Amino acid sequence: MNYLSTRGQVPPVSFSKAVEHGLAPDGGLYLPEQLPDLSSFLGEWESLSYPELCEAFFTHFATDLEAAELHRIVSRSYHKFDHPDIAPVRTLAPGQYVLELFHGPTLAFKDFALQLLGYFYEAQIARTGRPISVLGATSGDTGAAAIHGLIGKEGVKSFILYPDGRIAPLQERQMTCTGADNVFPLAIKGSFDDAQTAMKTVFEDRAFAAEVGLSAVNSINLARILAQCVYYLYAFFRLPADEREQVTFVVPTGNFGNVLAGWLVQQMGAPIKGFRVATNQNDILHRLFESGRYSLESVAPSLAPSMDIQVASNFERFLYYAVGSDPAKVREIMHTFKSTGQYQFENLNRQGFSSSRTDDSEIENLIKSVYSDFNYVVDPHTACGFQEDGAGEGPEIILATAHPAKFPDTIIKAIGEEPTHPSLEVLKEREIVKHYVDPTPEAIKAFMRKHR
Ligand SMILES: *Cc1c(COP(=O)(O)O)cnc(C)c1O
Repeated sequence: MNYLSTRGQVPPVSFSKAVEHGLAPDGGLYLPEQLPDLSSFLGEWESLSYPELCEAFFTHFATDLEAAELHRIVSRSYHKFDHPDIAPVRTLAPGQYVLELFHGPTLAFKDFALQLLGYFYEAQIARTGRPISVLGATSGDTGAAAIHGLIGKEGVKSFILYPDGRIAPLQERQMTCTGADNVFPLAIKGSFDDAQTAMKTVFEDRAFAAEVGLSAVNSINLARILAQCVYYLYAFFRLPADEREQVTFVVPTGNFGNVLAGWLVQQMGAPIKGFRVATNQNDILHRLFESGRYSLESVAPSLAPSMDIQVASNFERFLYYAVGSDPAKVREIMHTFKSTGQYQFENLNRQGFSSSRTDDSEIENLIKSVYSDFNYVVDPHTACGFQEDGAGEGPEIILATAHPAKFPDTIIKAIGEEPTHPSLEVLKEREIVKHYVDPTPEAIKAFMRKHR
């Protein structure tokens, strides 16, 4: 299996290359040349454990890796999860399920992909002998998950930029209290956008990129999307057989990476009914699915900060399919969107997607009503999935994207109780180690040269 770019201006590459590059050199995102038809495997995959299912799934994609190597990578990637099912499905009421994706080391769904990505990197370094430096910018969960995926990995140094004082205190502790000597949390004075802008400029310096073996871990990396496909299949198999084909997955959405993974599984032959994109008040995707109009507005910080995104980078992957796999059309749309901040689709094929929007004033109430109805505590991101406006017929699985204990302030306000988690309690005792750098490409490069 090879991987093409959504913009069609570079030749297809192997799985390992696509993972190593992250973004395709023409600015596009990688997708499989052809989506495999997995429908004939579903019967035999139904009873596999989570790591077994993950391995079986990746044999269709990581085709340039030896089977034994893939096994070594995947079999270790879910060791740090604190639930035997890895991704347990909890029944709240008949036909109403929650897929708990917060049992990994940083208590958010991003661990599913970043634990695996850490082992892919390690295997790649063992093969090539070239060390790598990971650079990322985070507004919270991605950075923590990336750091925990890369802790102690031979040959990897990771540098994660974040806006000092503007991420949740426990998210900061997850990044800065690790005690690991190959990870460097870089606090900058400024916003997440400042961090992101400086980071992009560093990536454009090709000589520097080659010098330090620069790699990106943001959600455009193909391995992250594929890793997330696995839990949709796993959850599908946990449902009663007569509900499976009726089910809608409800996905709290920011960058469109998570829900895209589910949609790809459906395109590969899993008979899932549909997907609901649950946005917070930053609702570009909800407006798109309602009106066909994709238009940029400024980001309004919310109680569900990991969904405070306007330009959903993974949307380009969906777009590629929505315009009939035509890279020239993708280029035209992305160009128009970049230069004018909007694009109006005529007859957008919604392809089974529905959507909802939840603003901050509703989030606390939703947390409260879920607690009183089901005696179950959801975090502010997951709460958006419980929005009833936009809910359709039939059974639903809501993806619980983070553990409530990561966002104690909102939960206390909503239900008057403090959610806790042992791994976070431990962090509260530890020393914070962070490095201050200026949000300029020069300062970041100088720091990386010194510490790699
Ligand atoms: C990242 C994140 C999201 C959004 O996921 P996307 O793949 O960007 O759509 C939702 N909830 C939590 C807790 C997250 O960390």
